[in-house]
Amino acid sequence: MKYIFITGGVISSLGKGLTAAALGTVLERRGLKVGLMKFDPYLNVDPGTMSPYQHGEVYVLEDGAETDLDLGHYERFTSCHLTRRHNLTAGQVYEEVLRKERRGDYLGKTVQVIPHVTNEIKNRLNHMGQHEDCDILITEIGGTTGDIEGLPFLEALRQFALEKGPGQCLFIHVTLVPFIKAAGELKSKPTQQSVAKLREIGIQPQILVCRSEHPIDLETRQKISNFCNVSVDAVIEEQDVKHTIYEVPLMLHRERLDELVLLHLGLKAPPADLKDWEKLVGRMISPKHRVKVAMVGKYLGVPDAYKSVTEALFHAASGEDTGVDLMKIDAEEIEKQGAEAFLKGVDGVLVPGGFGERGIEGKIAAVQYAREKKIPYLGLCLGMQVAVIEFARSLAGLKKAHSSEFDPQTKDPVITLLPGQSANGDKGATMRLGSYLCQLTAGSLAHKAYGKNEIKERHRHRYEFNNLHRETLEKAGLRISGIHPKGNLVECIEIPDHPWFVACQFHPEFRSKPDAPHPLFRGFAQAAHLHAQAN
Ligand code: GLN
Repeated sequence: MKYIFITGGVISSLGKGLTAAALGTVLERRGLKVGLMKFDPYLNVDPGTMSPYQHGEVYVLEDGAETDLDLGHYERFTSCHLTRRHNLTAGQVYEEVLRKERRGDYLGKTVQVIPHVTNEIKNRLNHMGQHEDCDILITEIGGTTGDIEGLPFLEALRQFALEKGPGQCLFIHVTLVPFIKAAGELKSKPTQQSVAKLREIGIQPQILVCRSEHPIDLETRQKISNFCNVSVDAVIEEQDVKHTIYEVPLMLHRERLDELVLLHLGLKAPPADLKDWEKLVGRMISPKHRVKVAMVGKYLGVPDAYKSVTEALFHAASGEDTGVDLMKIDAEEIEKQGAEAFLKGVDGVLVPGGFGERGIEGKIAAVQYAREKKIPYLGLCLGMQVAVIEFARSLAGLKKAHSSEFDPQTKDPVITLLPGQSANGDKGATMRLGSYLCQLTAGSLAHKAYGKNEIKERHRHRYEFNNLHRETLEKAGLRISGIHPKGNLVECIEIPDHPWFVACQFHPEFRSKPDAPHPLFRGFAQAAHLHAQAN
């Protein structure tokens, strides 16, 4: 197996994850098997305990690992299967080192960053080398070159590449080439300095991917080449995309990045077949139809907080040759001004997952509006919980219905903790996480959308539909359309007397791909499209 390491320079948010994923797309379309993983230098054991304001979305894997959102890009752009082994944080590394120290594994030695921390990082790479079935393993290093906490990771990679020998490892550095308006030119200095930082610690990147708002002219490329000790054809331009992130693989391929990678790693592969991908991007750029969808949430100032949800929506809509005008609506604003002020004229309402009470009544009001005005509704996790609360209050006579997450004293906890569960223990990795079986009810919209009796979907939540209220709610017309058989947990609900009202306790957004949209999102997009045509 060969290894590619992707580092980032100058600033964060350059889209290293996207670059790694997009390179994966192109290499797969050259017939290579690609694995992707991420190192995160922060001290949290996983991002599960971080607020979306800090970190954006927490991406959940099949095995229940709560990981960095870049792993979402990896799964969407390639066919790789990721596990908790594919996201290593400094928190996990130190946790392991300290565990070994307490056990006495270091035999009385002083425990140090080099070699104990760096060895732990190399162990993970070696483990992946032995167990991952792929030709190339791409590892993205989070953070920016020069960060103190990133140093042990870079040092470990330097050692690892040396141990593997020439031609086995390739370093790609993603950097920024800003355009300075006052000077009217592109500036290469930040790139020079960040590569100098890498070289200081013994890493010479062989390829530079230069993020830029403008085309990078030959003169600038030559300058970067000279100062950074990288051949001029290995100075790759990655401009900001105009329409969709799915253009990135095509762009990198045009810049011959895949060719360069193979050359450096001494690999041969057939040319990239990107015809399907080009078609898919074409459909995304100029769809025939348009729908207006309102997403009612609360972490709206953070563009990445609902990354998988918005991507899944775009995948599904583009599958219907439809573009989405996405309106992100702050649930607290609905509380102030009413749902109609924001939702009048939309073709679909989506309430995504969330935690905490803030904005909850706004979300409930949005559900009520969608239900009463017969606007297609998709509820995800908290979006299902608020739908159940709304239904209970408006149609089942449980006026005080609530989730015990938001009102622990409520007389009608239609959403609640299961017996034996507690809200007060450790917060890390203690929710219902990862993939669970769900049996679908014949004749339901969910059953129709999936075309299957049994599905598996990923979860990330603590509270559940309360079966004590199930009969009352069903009598009032709520259809339970999906059940997890162990414990008889309600996973999917719908409202039959409505064009398309479906909500699920799981997170379907984690399994959508641009070339394989998720069935529930597809059902929602189709319903929204019908709504747009009829109105
Ligand atoms: N806060 C809710 C729970 O813990 C919903 C979680 C979510 O939407 N991911 O059950």
